[in-house]
Amino acid sequence: MQRVRVIGGGLAGCEAALQLACRGFQVDLFEMRPHRQTPAHRDGKLAQLVCSNSFKGLEKTSAHGLLKNELKLLGSFLLKAAESARVPAGESLTVDRDVFSDSVERLILAAPNITLHRDEVTTLESEFPTLVAAGPLASEALTNDIFSRLGSERLHFFDAIAPVIEADSIDMSHAFFRNRWEKGETADFINCPLDKETYDLFVAKLREADSVELKPFEKKELFEGCLPVEEMARRGTETLRFGPMRPVGLGLGNNGKKWYAVIQLRAENKQKTLFNMVGFQTRLKWGVQKEIFTLVPALKNAVFARFGCMHRNTFIESPKLLTDTLRLRGDLPGTEHLPPIWFAGQITGAEGYTEAIATGWYAAWNMAQTLLHSTPTPLPEASCIGSLMKHLTSENEDFQPMNFNFGLLPHNREYKKKEKKTILGTDAENAVRRWIASFTNLDSTKPSWSFEDRI
Ligand SMILES: Cc1cc2nc3c(=O)[nH]c(=O)nc-3n(C[C@H](O)[C@H](O)[C@H](O)COP(=O)(O)OP(=O)(O)OC[C@H]3O[C@@H](n4cnc5c(N)ncnc54)[C@H](O)[C@@H]3O)c2cc1C
Repeated sequence: MQRVRVIGGGLAGCEAALQLACRGFQVDLFEMRPHRQTPAHRDGKLAQLVCSNSFKGLEKTSAHGLLKNELKLLGSFLLKAAESARVPAGESLTVDRDVFSDSVERLILAAPNITLHRDEVTTLESEFPTLVAAGPLASEALTNDIFSRLGSERLHFFDAIAPVIEADSIDMSHAFFRNRWEKGETADFINCPLDKETYDLFVAKLREADSVELKPFEKKELFEGCLPVEEMARRGTETLRFGPMRPVGLGLGNNGKKWYAVIQLRAENKQKTLFNMVGFQTRLKWGVQKEIFTLVPALKNAVFARFGCMHRNTFIESPKLLTDTLRLRGDLPGTEHLPPIWFAGQITGAEGYTEAIATGWYAAWNMAQTLLHSTPTPLPEASCIGSLMKHLTSENEDFQPMNFNFGLLPHNREYKKKEKKTILGTDAENAVRRWIASFTNLDSTKPSWSFEDRI
C-alpha cells in the first residue's frame, strides 16, 4: 500500500483522506486540534463548520446546488455525511453541525487504512506524498514554513474582497466603458454613475448599515488593512467621492457636467463574465450589501456572484504556484527537496464549505491518478469544479479567493436571462457525466468501499 500524508482534518482534508483511503492508499491524517486550537474552531471535532451551519442551496438552478449535484455524481463522502445530518431549512442543505462532524469522524475512524494523528505538522518536508488542507487558519509554524519556501509575496493573511457581479446583469443603459484618463488601448472599466440625490442616499444607507461581527483575532488586522467602504462613508459624506467613487478622468455626463460620483467595475476573469466593484471591500452583511449596492442605477438588477467580505484568511497564490490539478508546480525554486505536494481547501483560494469539499475531492483524485498511473486527469472546464480550477490556476495579478458561481462556467454565446442557468447547468452536468464515463475501465476510479459500507 502506498503511504500518503494529509495535513488538516477539516472539510477538504477529511474528504481527501477518505477518497485516498477508499482507493487503497495508507493515509496518515494530521489534525492539530484539540491540542492546538485555531482562533475560530470550537473544539477537537473533525470537519468542523466554523461559522454558518448551511451548505447553501440544493436546487440545480443555483450555483451551490449545481456544485453539490456534481459532488454527488463524483461520490463525495462529506456531501453524504451532510445529507445524513440535514435539518429542515427549506431548499438549502443545512445541517446539525455536531451530527455532521460526528458522522465524518466515524467514517475516518472506521476506515482501516486511515491513521488519525492528533498532531501539528510544522513542515512540508516528508518522505511521503502530501496533501495540504490546513485551511484559512493554518498554524503559524506550518504557515511560516510555506512562507519561507514559496516566498512571502505568495501567501496572504488577510482578505479584503469586493463584491463580484455577473456581467450580463449590469444595466449598460446606465453605465459606460471607459478607463480613467482614457489610458490603455482598450476601455476595460465599466463605470456606474450616481447623481447627487442617489449618492447622498447611498452614503446615508452605508453609514447606518449592519456589519458582520468581527472575531477578536481579526480586529487588529482589519484596522491595519484597507478600510471597508462603510467605514469610509462614516468618516464623512464626501470621503467616498474623493476615494473609490471619485468621478475624475471619466469625461462629462449627459448634462455636460462632470459626473457626481462613479463606481468602477473591473473584469474579474478573462472571459469578462464577472466584474468586481473596485475599492469596495466591505464587512456589511450580505443582504445589506444587496439592498444598498442595487441603489446604483446600473446595478439595480445586479446578480452578485459573490459578496464582499473581510476576514483572516491564509491562502497561497495558486495561479503562480499550482497546476490545474492543484499540484505544487515542480519547477519552483526552494521546493527541490519536497515530496510531490497537492493543496486543497480554502488555502488554495477556493472559498466556501462546499468548495473546500470539492477541492479536497479533486486534489485527492488527481493525487491518486498521478501516484497510481502517472496521469493526472483534470475535470473539463465546462464542469463546476473544472471551471473553478481554471479560475484558481489561471494567470491573475490580483488573485483573491473565489466561490463557485455561474460566471466561471464557459459562456459560448449571449444567453437570455431565463435560459442562462439551465443551459450552463446542463452543459456542466453533461460534461462531468461524460468525464466519469470515460474512466470506467480504470480500477483506481472505483472506490473499494462507500459511505454506506462504513456508517
Ligand atoms: C472565520 C471564518 C468563517 C467562515 N465562515 C464560512 C461560512 O459561514 N460559510 C462558508 O461556506 N465558508 C466559511 N468560511 C470559509 C471556508 O469555507 C471555511 O473556512 C472552511 O472550513 C474551509 O475548509 P478547509 O478544509 O480548507 O479548512 P478547515 O475546515 O479550517 O480545516 C483545516 C484544518 O486544518 C487544521 N490545521 C491547521 N494547521 C494545521 C497543522 N499545521 N497541522 C495539523 N492540522 C492543522 C485545522 O485545525 C483545521 O481543522 C469561513 C472562514 C473563516 C476563517
